[in-house]
Amino acid sequence: MLDYQHARHRMVEAHIARRGVRDARVLSALRQVPREAFVAEGFEEFAYEDSPLPIGSGQTISQPFIVARMAEAAEIEPSDRVLEIGTGSGYSAAILAELADEVFTIERHGELAEQAGERLHSCGYGKVTVKVGDGTKGWPEKAPFDAIVVAAGGPSVPVSLQEQLELGGRLVIPVGDKGGKQRLLRITRVAGNKFEEEDLGGVMFVPLIGEEGWIDHDVKPLMRQIRISVPQLIAEEAEDLPPIDDPDFGAIFDRFGGKRVVLLGEASHGTSEFYRARAAITKRLIEEHGFTIVAVEADWPDAAYLNRHVRGKPHPAGLSPPFQRFPQWMWRNTDVAAFIDWLRGYNSARADPDSMIGFYGLDLYNMSGSIAAVLSYLDKVDPHAASVARERYGCLTPWQNEPATYGRAALRSGYKDCEDSVVKQCRELLERSLSKEDGDLLDAQQSARLIASAEKYYRVMYYGGAETWNLRDRHMFETLQQLLNVGGPDSKAVVWAHNSHIGDARHTDMGAVRDEVNIGQLCRERYGDAALIGFGTHSGTVACASDWDGEMEIKKINPSQPESVESMCHQSGRGSFLLDFHRSDVAAEALRMPLLERFIGVIYRPETERLSHYMGAALSQQFDAYVWFEHTSPVTPHDSGDAGIGQVPDTYPFGT
Ligand code: SAM
Repeated sequence: MLDYQHARHRMVEAHIARRGVRDARVLSALRQVPREAFVAEGFEEFAYEDSPLPIGSGQTISQPFIVARMAEAAEIEPSDRVLEIGTGSGYSAAILAELADEVFTIERHGELAEQAGERLHSCGYGKVTVKVGDGTKGWPEKAPFDAIVVAAGGPSVPVSLQEQLELGGRLVIPVGDKGGKQRLLRITRVAGNKFEEEDLGGVMFVPLIGEEGWIDHDVKPLMRQIRISVPQLIAEEAEDLPPIDDPDFGAIFDRFGGKRVVLLGEASHGTSEFYRARAAITKRLIEEHGFTIVAVEADWPDAAYLNRHVRGKPHPAGLSPPFQRFPQWMWRNTDVAAFIDWLRGYNSARADPDSMIGFYGLDLYNMSGSIAAVLSYLDKVDPHAASVARERYGCLTPWQNEPATYGRAALRSGYKDCEDSVVKQCRELLERSLSKEDGDLLDAQQSARLIASAEKYYRVMYYGGAETWNLRDRHMFETLQQLLNVGGPDSKAVVWAHNSHIGDARHTDMGAVRDEVNIGQLCRERYGDAALIGFGTHSGTVACASDWDGEMEIKKINPSQPESVESMCHQSGRGSFLLDFHRSDVAAEALRMPLLERFIGVIYRPETERLSHYMGAALSQQFDAYVWFEHTSPVTPHDSGDAGIGQVPDTYPFGT
């Protein structure tokens, strides 16, 4: 069993206090309330991840950080009478009950209100009174209130709520657009009819629906309007792209040649167009703009094999060929092989090793090897724990929001029992693989960093969630920094990684609701002149698997969801194009609001696509530019017999 109390205390330190909530009473309330009692069954182990979780009726339990921030902003005293709008699970009402004398809370969904009432009662929060109704009208019979906290975003501040404030009372409410981006306001009643307003920053909430909020049926017409105007704007602002193999394709990206780091994304790991486009852009950046580092979302040792290959260096004896483990097609494919061939040819014309182009892996050292080791060990000692582990590795991506999968992947005692042995196995594997390295400076530095954090890394890799993600992306960023440092002040790098790593996390649900960072965000913060370029598609086919460790399959990509970024691009009718948000203010403005965006990793589950593969993102904030291919095709695994690279053995350059 997870130690909930420990997890709760850790969450308060790591996610709440560290992010600036100072009020000691609020922090203590968060340490008291058992959030696991307010989430749906099967979700208990995720209760302390500081993310919102589904609670039914299409609603979510609020993220603990935002609950804490709002409670702090409401400045609640022990003798206060507090009104909350949007009971949801009842969790935030329980926090308020820890702080105030009396709490009244209103929820518009009957079934949520009933369930919240039961939970509050069984957790001993008898001082909370729950009612079903439209909270925008407040609760006049119980007014006035010392504080009112609204957990849903309205178009404006409801007058009824202002009127029900006590003199000196505080109303904390998100106000803004229905798409989910609002400003958090604090309204203080300073005199009978005088209110002061403070802006506490940007937030993302579900809509406040009611007489003085959004009108339920308004949501749809508004979305229709957005759908009509944004595609038109895209059609007007997009720049046509020539075919990828046309030399003019790369030239379009000359505008990014002056950057220190250019990050090239992909909407899926198994799409040929994304690899070929990134290769064309990278060649151009190398040939015309002095980039010498190509750093990709791959394991360091595997990429080191290709790095030696492109530099014409021999491999140490006894080394296995790279990219042999799931998901092989991600790097072991014909598009990557062609690019590696080109790099080798380019380098062979250079006598000075310092002027050669290097190919490096940014990802956690030997991550796929370690996952494979965990699975094969668990297969032997505890097949049930192995199946849970497989599920976890497959589904713990930042865009996934599948209650059923979370449920299946829920923590059982099985893994806990063998955790120490698993970590020991992984450590041995790490030490074995490190001793095989050929000992150049970068390898030695990488190894030292890894050994120092190996235990933590293997543990969090299994437990997943924001902590694994952040550990991984910080590691990628530090590796990139190391490469740039070794290359000197004039060195320039191209990064190839998934859109979820490249697109600034602060402008997606990852950052806004899950507290996740990524390499794109870190590059923007560190190298102001980084270019973050996303890639997307509407339909086609993709190389992927159904589960972690499964066979590669070619699946049809569903046409994009109606209210998504992809649907806007598709409806523009422009085919392949580039949207440059620095050259087109109109495009930047049109795509500033959060929309759904599709993320396909190595696993693709078209049957549950909306929950498994979409999250909210503000495209023009997330990326500096966006490359669009209307229709895409899968990569071809390198050793499938279709490699098509002429006279060389069909395992070249991935093996000898
Ligand atoms: N604070 C809650 C918790 O901790 O679980 C979660 C709140 S959830 C983000 C927002 C809630 O506001 C939803 O349950 C939604 O049904 C409710 N809501 C939206 N408009 C409302 C209204 N006019 N009156 C009452 N509740 C409303």
